Amino acid sequence: MPCTDDSPDRIAAEARRALEICNACQYCNGYCAVFRALKPRRQVGTADLLFLANLCHNCRSCYHACQYAPPHAFAVNLPKSLSLVRQNSYRDHTWPPFLRGRLRYTGKPVILAALFAVVALALAAASTVPPEALLGRHSGPGAFYRVVPWEIMAGLAGGVLLWSLLAIGFSVADFWRSMGPAPSGVPLLPVLRETLRDVVTLRNLGGGGAGCFLRDGGRDGGLSQARRRCHHALFYGVALCFAATGVATLYDHLLGWQAPYPLVSLPVLLGSLGGAGMLAGTAGLALLKRRADPAPVAESVTGADYALLLLLFLTAVSGFALLALRGTAAMGPMLLIHLGIVLGLFATLPYGKFLHAPFRVAALLRAAMERQAEARNRPPA
Ligand code: SF4
Ligand code: SF4
Repeated sequence: MPCTDDSPDRIAAEARRALEICNACQYCNGYCAVFRALKPRRQVGTADLLFLANLCHNCRSCYHACQYAPPHAFAVNLPKSLSLVRQNSYRDHTWPPFLRGRLRYTGKPVILAALFAVVALALAAASTVPPEALLGRHSGPGAFYRVVPWEIMAGLAGGVLLWSLLAIGFSVADFWRSMGPAPSGVPLLPVLRETLRDVVTLRNLGGGGAGCFLRDGGRDGGLSQARRRCHHALFYGVALCFAATGVATLYDHLLGWQAPYPLVSLPVLLGSLGGAGMLAGTAGLALLKRRADPAPVAESVTGADYALLLLLFLTAVSGFALLALRGTAAMGPMLLIHLGIVLGLFATLPYGKFLHAPFRVAALLRAAMERQAEARNRPPA
């Protein structure tokens, strides 16, 4: 049965078939955590499938190594099968539940939501802020707040982010329960240490050490760690931008220093470094997608991938544009555009591709718990 972008039942059946062949074969055992977690599972149940699919980092190495991949009659395409199951898992665990089945994991809703946020914010500002404030030159502390008052800016961004974090938290909790009972009595500290190491190093995206296959050209395509490095740039870039926002909040609330801050100040330096990481990471990942072999990639998931990358890229670009234009009359419109994009990004986090990050962390945590339980139950040598 070929791997298709089809109904959830057929997708699950195909992924299960591929995993059962893999369990008999075990050639790819050293590539990632999926194969180690698969080994003790003679039968792959629904909960196992959910866990294994979200443990896969889609490095695609197993496809290129596979002697049973097409044109072999078994037509094993594990990365594509697991990515389709993963995509369905985001929708099945979406919070609030009434949105399940209504959401389509394509790029369009995410882009439209961001566009809506920018336009709505611009219209609201145009009807409430006097033109001389909106299009005037502002300088010194509090310049931004003469266009959008601090309470409105912080209330909007904080409110939307809080909703998104809650929705993500409930979705991940539902996903965690659906993976079945976790091993009990395992020591927490080593589990957290292993999970943290897997998250910060993205070890499982390394294709067993040699890296991901990038170039088209079939089985002999080039190996590279570029995808892993771009993921790192994006991950640490976003973290630095959040750190910049945190420092700015402390400056404002604790020290009474209002934004905008000088070029050589902690919030601007952290934000600029983070923005550069986001630009490099998103642009790099988008370019690598175009160079990748399309065979182990499910076509239906790429729209959501590009939409998230685009929103993150635009967030960084508009942030830099605001930094460059803050002493000019374009500051007001640029502030609205940047704020609108950030609001669109925050609002769509629980309903787009971003969900892969917390789901993967949960799967890595579960895998670390299983490894610790296995080590504890192993008889002494
Ligand atoms: S992907 Fe292919 S080679 Fe690798 S374990 Fe599965 S069946 Fe074996
Ligand atoms: S992480 Fe890579 S090697 Fe592991 S299952 Fe996914 S695509 Fe295959």
